[in-house]
Amino acid sequence: MEKEGCIFCKIIEKKNPSKIVFENGEIVAFDDIRPQAPVHIMVIPKYHIEKVSDLTDENISLIGRLVLVAKNIAKEKGIQESGYRIVINCNKDAGQEVYHLHLHLLGGRKFVWPPG
Ligand code: AMP
Ligand code: ZN
Repeated sequence: MEKEGCIFCKIIEKKNPSKIVFENGEIVAFDDIRPQAPVHIMVIPKYHIEKVSDLTDENISLIGRLVLVAKNIAKEKGIQESGYRIVINCNKDAGQEVYHLHLHLLGGRKFVWPPG
């Protein structure tokens, strides 16, 4: 999907409403519109990249910083000790709906393993 039709790019550009919980020059985090847990936050790069399978060596440090942002939000939301899950869906079998790379930060309830 191109950047032009991308819902998450619109959120980054503040052309689509969202509840932003963190933002810096590179990363935005906001509440998921259809939360699957008491805490369900999208952590995304401002740079439009579709999916994990498009990542290259150049993106390694970005991925690290996305995970660190998720970890910091988990602490702020009080789920650090109880636990949380960070999920990245890639392509259709994983159920990827939005083709702008995102981490799901999920917590506040117990999750099953293996995932459905
Ligand atoms: P995925 O299946 O990994 O692509 O997940 C996409 C996520 O984006 C889903 O959990 C959706 O609920 C969420 N989502 C889609 N549109 C919006 C939006 N406008 N604001 C916030 N979250 C959204
Ligand atoms: Zn995008």
